[in-house]
Amino acid sequence: MTILEAVASRTRVVIVGGGVLGTMHAVAARRRGFEVVQLEREAEARGASVRNFGLIWVSGRKAGPELSLALRARELWEELGTEVPGLGFRAAGSLTLAAGDAELALLKEASARPDAERRGFELLDPAAVREVNPALRGEFAGGLLCRADAIVEPRQVLPALRGHLGRDRYTWLPGREVTEITPNAVRDHTGAWHRCDLVIVCPGAAHTGVAGRYLARGDLRRVRLQMMQTAPLAERITTALADGDSLRYYPAYDLPGRAQLPPQAAAAGRARAQLLLVQRADGGLTIGDTHEYAEPFAFDVDEDAYDHLRARAEALLGAPIPRVQRRWAGVYSELDASGPVAGHALYHRAEVEPGVVLVTGPGGRGMTCSPAIAEETFQ
Ligand SMILES: Cc1cc2nc3c(=O)[nH]c(=O)nc-3n(C[C@H](O)[C@H](O)[C@H](O)COP(=O)(O)OP(=O)(O)OC[C@H]3O[C@@H](n4cnc5c(N)ncnc54)[C@H](O)[C@@H]3O)c2cc1C
Repeated sequence: MTILEAVASRTRVVIVGGGVLGTMHAVAARRRGFEVVQLEREAEARGASVRNFGLIWVSGRKAGPELSLALRARELWEELGTEVPGLGFRAAGSLTLAAGDAELALLKEASARPDAERRGFELLDPAAVREVNPALRGEFAGGLLCRADAIVEPRQVLPALRGHLGRDRYTWLPGREVTEITPNAVRDHTGAWHRCDLVIVCPGAAHTGVAGRYLARGDLRRVRLQMMQTAPLAERITTALADGDSLRYYPAYDLPGRAQLPPQAAAAGRARAQLLLVQRADGGLTIGDTHEYAEPFAFDVDEDAYDHLRARAEALLGAPIPRVQRRWAGVYSELDASGPVAGHALYHRAEVEPGVVLVTGPGGRGMTCSPAIAEETFQ
């Protein structure tokens, strides 16, 4: 055993939060030989990490550090996908579909950018789109294939990763809410102390509670999204899908052609909606999303937004979607890049006490970037 290995084997890390950020930190810590104890306040994590599309989304990322972080994460997901089949990792790619000439022109602009090759972009006419994804029998002017995009199964990822970590120097403690944090220990709501050398706090969108006093600077905000899932569709949808509304939100498309886009449909504009559609391993379709920024958030879901998203999905598929079986809303934590302290950071990481590191705020790219964010924490 080397000296470094001996030190690592004596290092104990406590992770607060059982979402994908906490769990990827557990994976990264175990890779370095550290002992890990992970606490989650719920009986099973039920926040953004299980409510998302499972999109490992490279296509929409801003050129530069954001794209590099997503591409590194994509590599790590693929490696993990080989080791842990339960993640359901599929290098399926995506198609972003243009409804008309202005959206098509913007896709063309994106496909001509110097980083198009890194993203695996290729502009396709409608016939070529249907060759890649024969289920698309509806109306569209063309599409942008992104070969780098991938899919995982969000309802399976966390238990699959914990199963992979096993019980060798990894302890999963669900149903334990951390109520106190000190440099070398945390205390949970039962009063039990968990001593360690390093605390990593990944509280997700819980901006109050134990992490609240460290997050009072005002550069984090919360965003609420509406989602739905259908019964299985027998036909395979070979890629993830996005409609032209996504060009209005993703920073990769913040190009001159964006100014030429017509206004969104009224219902989409009100809900700040874009269509994203992913077929689950069992054939069901996960469909979303909307964006609500002002708190207090609605406690109920808005059917107008669902009507719009259903109509968009059916227009692209050229067929009715199966019955919707589930609807839900989810909230993520996002670093507000226009805030006073954020600068160019892609997420929030701070050493809030000696040996206590708080990581949150990856926004709508948190599932994608989580393995690379965890890697950066330990670098
Ligand atoms: C509807 C929706 C769709 C999305 N789609 C995508 C997508 O397709 N691709 C993508 O890249 N990103 C997507 N995102 C974003 C992504 O899901 C999030 O950025 C990511 O899951 C955040 O992970 P997290 O671990 O920080 O947070 P969370 O998943 O919220 O986990 C935080 C955990 O910490 C626990 N916790 C909090 N406080 C304590 C405490 N005191 N003690 C113990 N436990 C505590 C919570 O119970 C929770 O389980 C989506 C988000 C939403 C809401």
